[in-house]
Amino acid sequence: MGNLDGKTALVTGGTRGIGFACAEALHADGANVVMNGRSPDKGAEAIEKLGGGDRLHFAAADVTTGDACYGLVDETISHFGQIDILVNNAGGAGGSAVLWEMDEAEWHQVMNWNLNHPMWTSKRAIPDMLKRGWGRIINISSIYGKMSLPTVSHYVTTKHGLNGLTKALAAETGELGIRVNSICPGFIRTDIFEAEGPVTAEAMGMDFEDWVAAVTQIAMTKTVNEASQVGAMCAFLCSKAGDGITGSMFNVDGGSSPY
Ligand code: NAP
Repeated sequence: MGNLDGKTALVTGGTRGIGFACAEALHADGANVVMNGRSPDKGAEAIEKLGGGDRLHFAAADVTTGDACYGLVDETISHFGQIDILVNNAGGAGGSAVLWEMDEAEWHQVMNWNLNHPMWTSKRAIPDMLKRGWGRIINISSIYGKMSLPTVSHYVTTKHGLNGLTKALAAETGELGIRVNSICPGFIRTDIFEAEGPVTAEAMGMDFEDWVAAVTQIAMTKTVNEASQVGAMCAFLCSKAGDGITGSMFNVDGGSSPY
């Protein structure tokens, strides 16, 4: 029996990388888990990796619109009857450019992806959590929610904003049984890291592997982190041990960020 038996979690972008690791950890602790992504094939693969069964469901949606996010929460509630845990994980940077050369449409797309999507899902999920007076919202931010990196101002801005949303929602829900926290991962070699890293490295005039070596050097551990370490932090915050923790940002970054 896990400590999350009877609870239901929705993990956006839950089919690969950090989201998958969070889904895996919550599932291992007994939760029903809805794994979201855009690709049904990746969804089927992710469900198979966790061994299938009634406690898993894949929900296809692109989280960059309000209607899709509302639909995702509604599908979670209609499938499992409730939503108790919301992990806002889908996100990324897309392209890299200095702000004055950045396509404005790309800026807005990243706002929707990284910042508006957690707002939309939270807005829809909280009223259901309030019915039971218990809820957990985990926002997957970044070390770039606390520090900066040239050529990804949209990413840096949204991840700082996501930490602000965490604080704001924690203040509004703290007395109502809901806990809202951010996890700020450092570098983790997931699919998006392999896809977006070379673009960022090139925009900074660096070879990708040299850039990886340079960013690894900023970690006190001199290593990149593992997605499973973020999953473990997510499960900890959703456990009984997380009852007294809200409005906080937890680095899983090997000591990369300054605070
Ligand atoms: P990843 O390995 O590329 O996985 C992304 C997941 O999100 C996949 O399941 C993908 O499935 C889904 N996804 C992507 N865009 C989506 C959309 N618009 N709507 C719905 N699902 C979507 O990425 P990751 O590295 O784990 O990153 C996850 C989060 O961690 C992001 O918010 C990222 O900013 C943050 N983060 C990552 C790192 C790192 O070094 N990797 C560091 C700090 C923070 P489909 O492609 O099928 O949609």
